[in-house]
Amino acid sequence: MTTRQINQQTIVRSRNLHKSFGPLLVLDGIDLDVYAGEVVVILGPSGSGKSTFLRCINHLESIDSGFVEVDGEQIGYRLRRERLDKLSNAAIAKQRQKIGMVFQQFNLYPHMTALQNVIEAPVGVHKESRSAATENAMRLLDRVGLSSKAHSYPRQLSGGQQQRVAIARALAIKPKLMLFDEPTSALDPELVGEVLSTMRDLAKQGLTMIVVTHEIGFAREAADRVVFMDGGKIVEMGKPEDVIGNPSHPRTQSFLSRFI
Ligand code: ADP
Ligand code: MG
Repeated sequence: MTTRQINQQTIVRSRNLHKSFGPLLVLDGIDLDVYAGEVVVILGPSGSGKSTFLRCINHLESIDSGFVEVDGEQIGYRLRRERLDKLSNAAIAKQRQKIGMVFQQFNLYPHMTALQNVIEAPVGVHKESRSAATENAMRLLDRVGLSSKAHSYPRQLSGGQQQRVAIARALAIKPKLMLFDEPTSALDPELVGEVLSTMRDLAKQGLTMIVVTHEIGFAREAADRVVFMDGGKIVEMGKPEDVIGNPSHPRTQSFLSRFI
């Protein structure tokens, strides 16, 4: 049972989103709303456009047509890369402040401790005071079960611990939305559980999350909604018990059959 509240405030609204790389159509009309407090898991085969969709939400890719809004503000509407660059950097930075992103490769700064990694953006970019940022970072490290590792360097941490630091770092900017792109795919199998467990806790605490993963068990337990993407389209979307338990589309059925 979940104690989370999902309300009707839309955090992400994507409409008819199209994105190509040269002749390759990668996103072919994505329509998706994500509500405050909701956990949406995106499943789909490699190359189906999942990462590109997350990257469009976070301004890491330009958008060809359609639009994405985050918290009511449009992201790169029909702007080509050249013009997007001209879009005020301040406006982009402001939108990105609302979004935390966790990648497959955790990309911690190797010369900084866990704590320094977590306070880097709040102090360096958002000009928070070091003491307030440190206090918040210690709370976040505690939240991901790593308060005892605050002064360890990434090389002294396991992959699972590094990824949990990366999650704390993404949370440090107090995002309204967290994007996870295959956060456990680079981990040894025995380290996957601790990261998924951290993500389950965040979900329970009401964070709005979009998670791309191949962890079907996580999707089944933690997702409010599961989206199945293939060929740049959303093929099927619904409650986990429907999309995973009883998929209606042949492509979803064939994809999921690999995990049984
Ligand atoms: P997924 O995350 O579902 O595996 P991606 O969004 O990474 O899929 O990629 C979708 C398609 O777009 C793939 O065919 C990939 O090779 C291609 N692609 C992704 N990024 C680029 C890029 N920067 N330039 C050219 N092609 C790309
Ligand atoms: Mg990907």
